[in-house]
Amino acid sequence: LGFDSDIFEVRESAVRSYSRSWPTVFTRASGSWLTASDGRRYLDFFAGAGALNYGHNHPALKSALIDYIADDNITHGLDMFTVAKGRFLQQFTDTILTPRGLDYKVMFPGPTGTNAVEAALKLARKVTGREAIINFTNAFHGMTLGSLSVTGNSMKRAGAGVPLVHTTPMPFDNYFDGSVEDFSWFERVLDDAGSGFNRPAAVIVETVQGEGGVNVARAEWLRALANLCREREILLIVDDVQMGCGRTGTFFSFEAAGIVPDIVTISKSIGGYGLPMALTLFRPDLDVWEPGEHNGTFRGNNPAFVTATKALETFWGDDTFAADVRRKGLRMHAALEALCRDHGSISSRGRGMVAGLAFGDPAHAAQVCERAFARGLLVESAGPSDEVVKLLPALTISDEDLDDGLRLLAEVTEQTLR
Ligand code: PMP
Repeated sequence: LGFDSDIFEVRESAVRSYSRSWPTVFTRASGSWLTASDGRRYLDFFAGAGALNYGHNHPALKSALIDYIADDNITHGLDMFTVAKGRFLQQFTDTILTPRGLDYKVMFPGPTGTNAVEAALKLARKVTGREAIINFTNAFHGMTLGSLSVTGNSMKRAGAGVPLVHTTPMPFDNYFDGSVEDFSWFERVLDDAGSGFNRPAAVIVETVQGEGGVNVARAEWLRALANLCREREILLIVDDVQMGCGRTGTFFSFEAAGIVPDIVTISKSIGGYGLPMALTLFRPDLDVWEPGEHNGTFRGNNPAFVTATKALETFWGDDTFAADVRRKGLRMHAALEALCRDHGSISSRGRGMVAGLAFGDPAHAAQVCERAFARGLLVESAGPSDEVVKLLPALTISDEDLDDGLRLLAEVTEQTLR
């Protein structure tokens, strides 16, 4: 293959994780399928951790990219005005924002999801002049210090040492038995002059926690949270890095709850082709940045603008694609619920085309992932102790591939729980 067979072991740092669970070298990919160097094929229920909602090498996106490169267009434009950027902004406005009645300024904060979160946190602090950020149990927002500070995962935070940035932790929906969509307890804490807590700048929330184990917030809870934010002048940041771009059955994951966040972070599948790209969207009146106040070399990946524009044009012109995502999502959830009815120790949850199969014992989840890999299916685990098998098939997957993958997953689950 052009490298020593032990090069990964010898040279690559131990931080790698997926490659440890999938010890093979992948060579090609198309749609929902990857091929390894030994010729084996793998059905992809991982989809680049949500970065490949339209599958691998989608033909329309691929030819747009090839045409762009073949024509000596701009590859690296930093934050220059380029045709690719202009067309992306136009398409995003016409296809996504305007039909939804949304008005956001678009910022290109850097190449990846955590850059979008950092920019959101910085902006909220600058706008409000306040410091603390409310974050949630089991939240995940990225690996840089600000994003990590609002991430509710002690293992991931351990590598950074403490203290990080000041946060105010809150229980996510369904954290307690029975649901709490009454935030009056929190309002009393805010008003408690004796205790003298600082008013937070913002709340950052995922509508479905992906890395946290596919924990779904109910629409009522999200609306109550949005109301709390509005009444108390706390900015609401929805982190749609993993659940945006159609994953939950609408372009933005918060659409179903009928809320309008002040700030939204987007990345992963926005480039559409697996190319790095991130957006921080915010209410136009929050644009308090001074020119140059938030910069960086890789803001504005022009090849990603091209594939992003093509993806919006191909999939988001009307509701057909989103409706199909919702239909396939129901199919997936029905299959998982049937599996859970036969096995009392597991349960399933999810929304749209993301699902979690929760095992009581993390060792079972690990075994299911391992056995799935051995049988040619890529799935990863999530949750505080990796006890949830997370399913993120490409949104473009065929019914047949989806059913085959779910059947295989049911077989290895049964084998594991036997
Ligand atoms: N926010 C959420 C909700 C995520 O799921 C992730 C990545 N898993 C991030 C932020 C960070 O994105 P990135 O890995 O691209 O920095």
